[in-house]
Amino acid sequence: MSHFASVEMTPGDPILGLTEAYLADARPGKVNLGVGIYYDEQGRIPLLRAVHEVEQRLAQEAKPRGYLPIDGLPAYTQGTQKLVFGAESPLLAAGRVATSQTIGGSGALRVGADVLKKALPKAKIAISNPSWENHRVVFIAAGFEVVEYTYYDPQTHGLDFAGMLADLGKLEPGTVVLLHACCHNPTGVDLNAAQWQQVVEVVKERQLLPFIDMAYQGFDQGIDADATAVRLFAASGIESFVVTSSYAKSFSLYGERAGALTFVAADRDEALRVQSLVKRTIRSIYSSPSTHGGALVAGVLNSPELRAMWEQELGEMRERIHAMRAGMVEKLAAHGAPQFAFIQQQAGMFSYSGLSKAQVDRLRDEYAIYAIGTGRICVAALNRSNLDTVAAAVAAVSK
Ligand code: PLP
Repeated sequence: MSHFASVEMTPGDPILGLTEAYLADARPGKVNLGVGIYYDEQGRIPLLRAVHEVEQRLAQEAKPRGYLPIDGLPAYTQGTQKLVFGAESPLLAAGRVATSQTIGGSGALRVGADVLKKALPKAKIAISNPSWENHRVVFIAAGFEVVEYTYYDPQTHGLDFAGMLADLGKLEPGTVVLLHACCHNPTGVDLNAAQWQQVVEVVKERQLLPFIDMAYQGFDQGIDADATAVRLFAASGIESFVVTSSYAKSFSLYGERAGALTFVAADRDEALRVQSLVKRTIRSIYSSPSTHGGALVAGVLNSPELRAMWEQELGEMRERIHAMRAGMVEKLAAHGAPQFAFIQQQAGMFSYSGLSKAQVDRLRDEYAIYAIGTGRICVAALNRSNLDTVAAAVAAVSK
């Protein structure tokens, strides 16, 4: 007798399914724009020089692999706080910030969600429409009711800011609001500083709890500029908010699962109490984070020389993305599709291209170009060798 006979097949992740189909495709010149990974000009996932340096030092040292503390390496969490808030942040000086090293940004989201469910059992969470699909999945798994706020305007391929403000203004006090700090996934549509300031005001007035997901710090304008939202909330007098970080993209450390969860509390004592709940929560899920990814990030952040090297490499990745956006717009126009100029206004790895499901299907069937049914494309998978082919195909299916 099987105890699992009643288990039904659960649908797989559509993005991972797309990659499987892409890998099985034998056509030469195939392109996968469905991924959420930065590829370099040669189409490879980069191994950053700064990361490689630390890795070699670690190999030389050949240290034993004990357990890390529940909330991770202090050099990692302190380094993260300085990146997120700026080294001179009064919040750090006041001891109001509690950070834990987590299993990727995803782990930070889930631990954060579990902690909030314990602290605020009745709170709902509001996510942008659309948002990264896992936001919904993670918060539902943690027992939250998920509601949506207006975000993307399909007419302009930009932000429906009036709609966003109106929806945030209607949320019940105490609602958790998930905000993408920069490089919004999946749309590539971000707020400017003045718009963030208006969001801060609404959040304050409605007594909402900001939960800022920062998975792409440094991928649009730079480390500090991309943290504008966090810095404005920090300066606003709002007493509590949450920030999740991921080093998957900014350090090209996808599989190392390096992330962080940060709670900002009203004072030092409250921060310590919140951190005790975070630690209890982590202990009940995976006990403590993994050593290697954490050691790599901490090694880079705490060496002035490697930190400078990393910032340069991060800048190169950022510039390549900008160049691919500009190149795509230019080539699309050359192929008779000037309506895609908005791709240059969007930020980060992704663009909501406006392509329909039928057009995406044609791209796959006729041109071996893979994208997600929603029309999201990863501009960081473009390079000088595939740009023209992709632009020609997109222009052809858009006619
Ligand atoms: N948040 C957003 C918006 C993301 O796009 C991602 C990764 O794609 C994550 C969080 C999670 O990152 P990680 O790979 O570190 O779990």
